[in-house]
This record gives sequence, structure tokens and C-alpha cells, in this order.
Amino acid sequence: MKHNFGAGPGILPNEVLKQAAEAVIDFNGTGLSLLEISHRSPEFEAVLNEAVSLVKELFGVPEGYSVLFLQGGASTQFALAPYNLLPEGGKAAYLESGVWANKALKEAKFFGEVEVVATSKESNFTYIPKDYTIPTDAAYFHITSNNTIYGTQMQEFPKSPVPLVCDMSSDIFSRTVNVADFGLIYAGAQKNMGPAGVTLVIVKDDLLGKTGRKIPAMFNYQVQIEGGSMYNTPPCFAIYVSMLTLKWLKAKGGVPAIETENNEKAKALYAEIDSNPFFKAVAVEEDRSRMNVCFVAENPEHEKPFLKLCDEKGIVGLKGHRSVGGFRASIYNALPISSINVLIETMQEFAEKNK
Ligand code: PLP
Repeated sequence: MKHNFGAGPGILPNEVLKQAAEAVIDFNGTGLSLLEISHRSPEFEAVLNEAVSLVKELFGVPEGYSVLFLQGGASTQFALAPYNLLPEGGKAAYLESGVWANKALKEAKFFGEVEVVATSKESNFTYIPKDYTIPTDAAYFHITSNNTIYGTQMQEFPKSPVPLVCDMSSDIFSRTVNVADFGLIYAGAQKNMGPAGVTLVIVKDDLLGKTGRKIPAMFNYQVQIEGGSMYNTPPCFAIYVSMLTLKWLKAKGGVPAIETENNEKAKALYAEIDSNPFFKAVAVEEDRSRMNVCFVAENPEHEKPFLKLCDEKGIVGLKGHRSVGGFRASIYNALPISSINVLIETMQEFAEKNK
């Protein structure tokens, strides 16, 4: 058995994978593969509608917001957010809390002025800046809720005088969020929601149509809303597997239930990192992520042998991102607590062997 701590694409529930595999051969008894049915068929329209209503239900999306399933990953949203929300000659504010935030703000510069209100670049993003002022003349304020590479996470969202735009790629559906506090939320599916190939966008309708610029159809949220995420052929398989994952989440008790589990998983793992003299955490304590737990070996020479021991135990995907080094345990929704326990036991065994 493998314990998948990979950062992205991340782990999906086993039963979801089994259902998805079946649907590739025969989709719901249609005699056709999910990969070959028309996206305009009633069978697929039902899938898309269910995916949208599960997002609304599980995330508590209020009236006045649209839910879209788009393509191009979160990286495309780095550009589409300013394309759709930043008026000609206007300004957007960004919090630079990691490399993904940096990529997002670089894309916004194609569309207008960008004010970086604060950055933690000087410390290689080990913390989330909290001391800043959001300019009231900005069209929006862009944040990254969870910094996948560095293992930091916003524990609370800033109170913003302008609409909040949030990249939630690596912690969407892992904790309760008040959607009404946001103007736009986007997330690549492939960490907590489904497979790569689909991107969730939740946008407040009344923010649209105010930029004064013409936007090509595929990049235009309003066109995508009117087309019901089907302006062109949608990524049917990725949407289907996301829908199954959301159903799995609902059956588990929804976001509040998974949040409790995620808190327990993270607490147990950080407790081991803090008490085991062979390892230390990377991020400052108050900003520690409950999705991506980054840590290093006290002695860099222990890095390779520890990864080798992990490999023997079936632990995969633990190597840290190249810009941080060490280890990164991505503990997304579908990772069971039993896998956390295997990692903890492996850390203890390593310490015992090397003392
Ligand atoms: N934003 C965050 C926080 C991420 O972790 C990632 C990918 O790891 C991205 C954006 C980029 O996502 P995509 O590969 O879907 O473009």
C-alpha cells in the first residue's frame, strides 16, 4: 500500500478512483465511455449540474455568485482575474506570499498597475505578511490562501475595503470559508477537488462587465457564465471525477467534518516534527499550513537516508519543492490519518536508528 503525500496532483479517494475507472468503460450503463459521450447529452449535463450544486452546497455559495468549471489551470486565472476585473488604467493590490502569488501579480501587470502591499520574499516566504494597508482605490486585493511550496496558510482572511480575489488552489474544501467575503475564488482542481484539467471559479456576478475592455470569449467570465461552463467542449472527465470527489466529501459530513479531520492530521504531524530532534518545521508556527507540512532534517546528511526509509514504508511524494528543500508532506482531504501515523512512526524509527 502506498501513502501518497504528493503536492499536486494530490491524492484522490480510492472509491472515487474505482468509480471513475468504471465510467471510462461504461458510463452509468449507457454502454459508452464517459470519454466518448457528448458533453451536450442529458447524462453529462446532469453531471455538470450536480458538480455545480455540490460546490454551492458544500461551500455555502450565496446568491449572486456563479460557479464555473474552466480549463487552463489556476495559472490561467492569474491572467483572467485582472482581464475581467481590472479596469483600463486601474490598479490592483497583491500580497506576495510565495511564488504562485508572484506569478499572479506578474500576469496582472499586463492589464494595469499593480501595487504589492507586502512581501515575505526576503525570508523565502516562511511567513505570511500581516502588516500592510490595502489601497481603497484598487479594483481588488489578491491573496493566496495556502502557499503550497512553503507550507504557510492564512489562518484568517484580511478584512478588505475592496473585493478579495483568492487563489485557493491548495486548500479549497479543506476548511469552512465565508464565500460572501470574496469577490472571486479560483482553484486548480488537482489538489483537493479532483484531477488536473479543470479549474473551479466562483465569481460575484456584479463585479463583471466593468473593465471597459473587450475580452475574447474563452477568457470572458460573463460568456462562460452564459454558456454554463460549456461555451466550448468542457473537460468532461475532470469534471466528472471532481463531482465524485465532492459527493465523497458530502458523504463524509462536508467541509466542517473534513476540517476537523484535517486539523487532527496536521496537529499530530507538527507535534512529531516539534518533538523529534532529527527534524524541524520550516514555516513560522502561527502561519503553518494544514495542507502542506514543510520540514527539514536538522542534519542535511540525513535527508537522503530518511527518504529511502520512507520509500521502504510506501511513503511517496515527500521530497520538498526544490526552492525549499527537505520534505513536504501534503496532507490533503483524501489522505487518511492512518497514512499520517505511518509517516510519524517512520520519523520515530529513523530517529531511533540514528541516535
Ligand atoms: N496556485 C497555487 C497555490 C498552486 O499550488 C499551484 C500549483 O501547484 C498553482 C497556483 C498553479 O496551478 P495550475 O498548475 O493549475 O496552473
